[in-house]
Amino acid sequence: MKPAAFRYHAPKTIDEAVALLAEVATEDGRVLAGGQSLVPTMAFRLAKPAHLVDINGVTALCRITTTGGKLAIGACVRHAAFHRPVCEGPLGKLLAEVVRHIAHYPIRNRGTFCGSLAHADPASEWCLVLAALDGEVVAKSARGERTIAARDFFKGVMTTALRDDELLLEARLPLLPGDTRCGFYEFSRRAGDFALAAALGAYRLEGGKIAEPRLAIGGAEVYPRRVLEAERVLAGAAPSDKAFRAAAEAAMAAIDPMEDIVNSAEFRRDLVLAVARRALERAAA
Ligand SMILES: Cc1cc2nc3c(=O)[nH]c(=O)nc-3n(C[C@H](O)[C@H](O)[C@H](O)COP(=O)(O)OP(=O)(O)OC[C@H]3O[C@@H](n4cnc5c(N)ncnc54)[C@H](O)[C@@H]3O)c2cc1C
Repeated sequence: MKPAAFRYHAPKTIDEAVALLAEVATEDGRVLAGGQSLVPTMAFRLAKPAHLVDINGVTALCRITTTGGKLAIGACVRHAAFHRPVCEGPLGKLLAEVVRHIAHYPIRNRGTFCGSLAHADPASEWCLVLAALDGEVVAKSARGERTIAARDFFKGVMTTALRDDELLLEARLPLLPGDTRCGFYEFSRRAGDFALAAALGAYRLEGGKIAEPRLAIGGAEVYPRRVLEAERVLAGAAPSDKAFRAAAEAAMAAIDPMEDIVNSAEFRRDLVLAVARRALERAAA
């Protein structure tokens, strides 16, 4: 199928993009970033935006910078930018590991980090990273700029706190301390498919005991989140099979899994047990 008719806008600056969004948001105007989610939904006529504000010509949005202990990822930075570490230390390595699980190479060459956040698929790897690391996003509209913490950003399946006239300018992730151990694991039926469940674990060691544990689950619930019940199990424990199993069991018990015609809630709950344990094992490896 072909998309419904729309008007195409190609701003060159952030201010132009924001001004255009203010004009067209009430007439079903949408931002076009990599187009890897929006264009297929338009082709199937699941989305029929009357206006597209294409931000690909806004060069100021193509940057990755590190400031104030944070990695800032501009709205036009493609998934493929992370194929190699974009910063030193564990964060760069983690992002380079995670990106390999997103779709296929051509999609990674077009799709954007921030587009994934704005789209908010429950199984999005970048949404999981933002939630696990307590990242934040910066949104701008004609009314001003605001910073939204990951815990306040995701609201439901493909639903975020972004307003219709807001441009997601950049995402920010904390640069992790050098001794942070990170592990990521996801299960999908075929390489490149969306994950049915995914986990990201991170911690440091203090005197041989787990400190500052993080365990976040994606793909299983309506949006990814840290599972505090599991993190409490890990805090102060020695990294061991016993501790990882106990944390994975706590995660499994704490989540409220989605179900669909192929995957039951019970199946997803079992997957959470497996992906959580394997993510923690990878962090320890
Ligand atoms: C076959 C296939 C497999 C895929 N597999 C995966 C996968 O395994 N994991 C995964 O995470 N993704 C997957 N994707 C999706 C892909 O990662 C997309 O790139 C991503 O979801 C959206 O990014 P985009 O830049 O293409 O956004 P677009 O498609 O351009 O936009 C998506 C939505 O976000 C909005 N938007 C985009 N950028 C902004 C912004 N800066 N400010 C405000 N709103 C904005 C748009 O208006 C639109 O509503 C897959 C896609 C395909 C086609």
